[in-house]
Amino acid sequence: MKYLDEFSNPDLARKLLDQIRDTTTQRWAIMEVCGGQTHSIIRHGIDQLLPDSIEMIHGPGCPVCVTPLEIIDKALEIAARPDVTFCSFGDMLRVPGSESDLFRIKSQGGDIRVVYSPLDALRIARENPDRQVVFFGIGFETTAPANAMTVYQAKRLGIHNFSLLVSHVLVPPAIAAIMESPTCRVQAFLAAGHVCSVMGTEEYPALCDKYQVPIVVTGFEPLDILEGIRRTVEQLEKGEHHLDNAYQRAVRPEGNLPAKQMLDDVFEITDRGWRGIGTIPDSGWQLAPKYREFDAEHRFHVHDLHTDESAICRSGEVLQGLIKPHECAAFGKQCTPRTPLGATMVSSEGACAAYYLYRRLEIQEATHA
Ligand code: SF4
Repeated sequence: MKYLDEFSNPDLARKLLDQIRDTTTQRWAIMEVCGGQTHSIIRHGIDQLLPDSIEMIHGPGCPVCVTPLEIIDKALEIAARPDVTFCSFGDMLRVPGSESDLFRIKSQGGDIRVVYSPLDALRIARENPDRQVVFFGIGFETTAPANAMTVYQAKRLGIHNFSLLVSHVLVPPAIAAIMESPTCRVQAFLAAGHVCSVMGTEEYPALCDKYQVPIVVTGFEPLDILEGIRRTVEQLEKGEHHLDNAYQRAVRPEGNLPAKQMLDDVFEITDRGWRGIGTIPDSGWQLAPKYREFDAEHRFHVHDLHTDESAICRSGEVLQGLIKPHECAAFGKQCTPRTPLGATMVSSEGACAAYYLYRRLEIQEATHA
């Protein structure tokens, strides 16, 4: 398929791998921030093709995985109400809350619908004026513009039975938090190309300077990732630390200006909890005061819930790159994509799910050898 096959060309991949091998003289730890990149790396075995001295650390870039338990529990409480139609993307339905998940609420009679766009939820609200229709708006800077536009449209069209349960998080504050952690081993970052296509790259040079780390904006196909790693290693070996855009076919420095204007109008910056990591200051968005009437947390008064994380799950350590998924004792045993104990096993972008899908047999063979 044009535009995909040409970014998976094995001859070009071999050349890039040779260049990386020829450039590398010492050990380096590079974090890919995005869950989509994690899946691409594991699926194509890129980490296994790299020189042993290059370690890829899988960062907290899966939106489902970092959505805090408290927000999941709030979603469950709202979705169980008889007057509510709760709309969500499908991957949130199996994410475990403290005691249940959205699938179980649905099986118990909750009106929970899988939609493909927040605008679908707005249409449902318009067609069902006697129902309260809630959309579960989670994710990074990539999903936020569509959610912002939906709230803007709800206000413009006067659809007052629509609301948004918001848990949006931002990449640059997460990079700062990772670098501030006393256990941090990361020496460079592959930044998420799709996030930068929305937000641009202007926030990143300051992070490069402050933490003395190279940041390379990188795409998602195998050659994109290898090129991102090649440029990163080149900077590391030269002792440089600047922003480099290796995804110029999609990313401009200023980003997507209409999307950013919509985000500025509808949202404001707030502290956000990250599942497995904790609260990061100024790391997310909430609805701005003029749109607060569309905030589901305010509408349904769900505040200060008591939450219980699984005692077994080590997804916090996975998300911080402190362990690999198969180092968790529950991996592939009590915890599988069908019986997930943590969000990193649920989402198609979660690191535990990626290892389960693409590495399980290899890991089992190595364990029994
Ligand atoms: S394998 Fe399961 S229990 Fe272990 S860290 Fe991953 S999600 Fe949590």
